[in-house]
Amino acid sequence: MFSRLPNVREPRRVTVLGAGVAGLVAAYELERLGHQVEIIEAADRVGGRVHTHRFGSAPGAPFADLGAMRLRTDHTRTLHYVVELGLHNDIREFRTLFADDGNLLSIHDERHIRVREAPDVLTGRLAARLGDHSYRPATLLFGAWLHACLEAIAPRDFNDWPEVTTELLDLVDGIDLEPYLHPAGSKPDLYAVVKDHPQIRSGPFRGRERLLDDVLDETSPALYRLRGGMETLTNALAARIQGPIWLNQEVTGIAVHDDGVAVGVRRGGRIRYRNYDHVLCTIPFTVLRGLRLDGFDADKLAAVHETQYWPATKIALRCREPFWAADGIAGGASFTGGLVRQTYYPPVEGDPAQGAVLIASYTIGPDAEALGRLDPAARRQVVLDEVARMHPGLRERGMILDTAGRAWGEHRWSLGAATIRWGQDAGTRKEQQWAAARPQGRLFFAGEHCSSMPAWIEGAIESVTDALRDMETRDPHELMRLDLGR
Ligand SMILES: Cc1cc2nc3c(=O)[nH]c(=O)nc-3n(C[C@H](O)[C@H](O)[C@H](O)COP(=O)(O)OP(=O)(O)OC[C@H]3O[C@@H](n4cnc5c(N)ncnc54)[C@H](O)[C@@H]3O)c2cc1C
Repeated sequence: MFSRLPNVREPRRVTVLGAGVAGLVAAYELERLGHQVEIIEAADRVGGRVHTHRFGSAPGAPFADLGAMRLRTDHTRTLHYVVELGLHNDIREFRTLFADDGNLLSIHDERHIRVREAPDVLTGRLAARLGDHSYRPATLLFGAWLHACLEAIAPRDFNDWPEVTTELLDLVDGIDLEPYLHPAGSKPDLYAVVKDHPQIRSGPFRGRERLLDDVLDETSPALYRLRGGMETLTNALAARIQGPIWLNQEVTGIAVHDDGVAVGVRRGGRIRYRNYDHVLCTIPFTVLRGLRLDGFDADKLAAVHETQYWPATKIALRCREPFWAADGIAGGASFTGGLVRQTYYPPVEGDPAQGAVLIASYTIGPDAEALGRLDPAARRQVVLDEVARMHPGLRERGMILDTAGRAWGEHRWSLGAATIRWGQDAGTRKEQQWAAARPQGRLFFAGEHCSSMPAWIEGAIESVTDALRDMETRDPHELMRLDLGR
């Protein structure tokens, strides 16, 4: 991704804090440029918010992606590493929310309907709400599905809720939606409609573009996953890094000086400060704001303390068999309507005798906060009760073999799932991105929170490009000449 330096006159030593995607990509690229790198990581594993839980160590054991689980087909930075690390044969289609005609969605009265029967119900409801306004059937279908996707992805009490308005429908009514309709006619490709007609994004969704983007991205047919789990990417990156990756080493403080950066690290029971020449910090600001920080300017401290994150929870069940197949579901995801929100049905990839995984619940924001407050046993029970209303087969004796989950808002090394910039205009988003990424002396910053695509692996990688550019321009010897002309 970055051009190799022809002549490294004086290789630099760069210390990277955090071994998530951003830290690993940065270390990998810095080494390619001829620099010496070490990584300090608090957890006992690499990958950070890319975390594939394996139910057992036997070959073919089922797994669940408890963090990132898919990427967009136009995430060229992420795909670059997938290909470069030899994982291209592991790219698979990711079937998302409502992708299967048998997927279920809640319609508020304790009832769940199938995707295939949803168009009549959803468009009928929308038409009733609109009263005298009349639109073409395809326009109503677009509006009804957009509403359903917004409702399924945004949390229940999201107070910045964008309604499907007559302003939006007036605009869409003038677009020929025929090419975007699913052959079976049940669901238009919302993502492609908005991509081809940016006036939808900049008009009715002005100021909420990021929310619209995330909803459309997550429900788009243009998504990939990695066979074997997303952690194969971060593990492959780590395997290519020559310098040491120190695990179980918690950074407790950072002090910026004129000639370098002192970093306090807890090793065993003791904290020791060491001086480093250049440091790249990828620690999420939720964690960073709890550390001792010296030599930071006031604006930077404000960015560290005020950047907003949202929590997320995922709960995965290893089931005796993919019982949902008997229920007419071949993949994709359903929407429960309650606290559970989204339920995903990943394909059985390993040894079927070891069971099948159901991502029973994927929840963000206030709903995740509510689930995160429960102790793990109570959280599991809430999820089981809610999912079993949709899938009574879950209650069969011996159906659930194992459970795994993570409340990212409570997880010590994340204290949040991702930065959220849903309700902000483009200018504010850019300002916040710059404030998060702005270096302090020889301390540089990267991570999804420093990017224009927060909450995506792609964003974490984008931020590395920017951080290395910062290092280049601040380096008096211009040692880090990067090809940033993309
Ligand atoms: C539930 C969930 C679902 C997601 N779904 C997707 C998806 O489908 N697709 C997608 O592209 N993205 C998704 N994301 C977002 C994606 O996972 C992140 O954007 C990306 O992994 C962030 O990488 P990062 O390197 O910026 O941060 P992190 O991965 O958080 O890396 C930071 C590292 O710093 C370490 N650290 C923290 N504190 C300290 C300390 N004091 N000392 C030393 N080290 C420390 C952490 O352990 C961690 O390894 C999802 C995230 C979550 C939580």
